[in-house]
Amino acid sequence: MTVLHAAQALTPAGWQADLRLTLEAGRFSSVEAGRPPEPGDTSVAVLVPGLPNLHSHAFQRGMAGLAERRGPASDTFWTWRETMYRFALRMTPDEAEAVAAQAYVEMLESGFTRVGEFHYLHHSPDGRPYGHVAEMAERIAAAAALTGLRLSLLPVLYRWSNFGGAAPNEGQRRFVSDLDLFARLVEESRAAVTDLPGATLGVAPHSLRAVTPDDLSAAVALAEGGPVHIHAAEQVREVEECEAWSGARPVQWLLDEAGLDPRWCLIHATHMTPDETVRFAASGAVAGLCPVTEASLGDGIFPAPGFVAAGGRYGVGTDSNVLVGAADELRQLEYAQRLGQRQRNVLAAPGASTGRALFDAGLAGGTQALGAEGAKLAVGAPADCVALAGADPALIERQGDALLDGWIFAAGSRAVDAVWVAGRQVVAGGRHVAREAVAARYAGVLRRLMAA
Ligand SMILES: [Zn+2]
Repeated sequence: MTVLHAAQALTPAGWQADLRLTLEAGRFSSVEAGRPPEPGDTSVAVLVPGLPNLHSHAFQRGMAGLAERRGPASDTFWTWRETMYRFALRMTPDEAEAVAAQAYVEMLESGFTRVGEFHYLHHSPDGRPYGHVAEMAERIAAAAALTGLRLSLLPVLYRWSNFGGAAPNEGQRRFVSDLDLFARLVEESRAAVTDLPGATLGVAPHSLRAVTPDDLSAAVALAEGGPVHIHAAEQVREVEECEAWSGARPVQWLLDEAGLDPRWCLIHATHMTPDETVRFAASGAVAGLCPVTEASLGDGIFPAPGFVAAGGRYGVGTDSNVLVGAADELRQLEYAQRLGQRQRNVLAAPGASTGRALFDAGLAGGTQALGAEGAKLAVGAPADCVALAGADPALIERQGDALLDGWIFAAGSRAVDAVWVAGRQVVAGGRHVAREAVAARYAGVLRRLMAA
């Protein structure tokens, strides 16, 4: 049993001073405001619920920063993807676990307490399934168990290389499954997460490039009511090819044919018409925004003002993990809007804090998208929380929402002091408790992968 005392804390009833929380059996068993600290309490300056990271490809952390040299022609998403394929094709299960553990340590150190792992690196390097078809998913679960990050596992159905069922290419051999194999992957993935506290399982038909309409229906059925995630409308070329195939744009097609509802999460949804934007918002599905990766890949800017005005729900994800940071994603989301609109404080309501608006949306949208029980500082809720360092230069003398503005816009991950997941402290003094061991194993893996 741990008792935390927070000088300031963000509860469902708003900011409260002198909050005492008892963490017991993974949950908050008592939460009382206006109480002085008692001997034996762990005192923190600022306490907020842990954020969900709704979209990650953990293995890509290993190639972060390796695709920043310009090629002979103009460099696009599609040349980055070639680098990613070459990297992915070499990784053994043990190496994938080590890279995922490194990514998950960094997520926790930045204030994320759950990850939605959109997992498509399934098969052996020659493309044959492992004897245990979910071998790689089990490694993701092992990395989550090792680091204490909560897991929402989203096994990916990847069948084709382009719209209309074009045959997959050689670089995709580790990703590709037929429907029978995918059903086994989902079943074994479900077993792989059963022992992880609070884990959820969904499915992820990769994109409308990679599944046909029939494949999509089959995949959704396997979710058994859990989350359904799909990449959509990330790239202009993808939108054009979707129109050539179906006469409809990707988000339009999903609205018309797939029956979007609150279980769904469309990753990116960057390129939408105003009509698609409003209809997507009205569906109750979540927009899974990955602002740092979208900027890294030159995808474009999500039409956030129209989406938010129509009541749209969104959360954030670290996607390619080129940079891992909860504050970084929220800040980049707002900054892209500012650059596009040539305005400030685009995503806040008039008179309100932008940091608070981003934080609340990311918490609610990410929780919904991952089919998870939400983190909140309330009795009975999962004890997943983040302490911010009140002594950080960007947080000094701030109160309430200004603390979130200081974290997101002025300090970033540096302000994260301590993190608890399921009542267990996994970050202390800004460092994950297993940081050194995880980093040493990761360094060994990178030495081999970079030499190959
Ligand atoms: Zn992605």
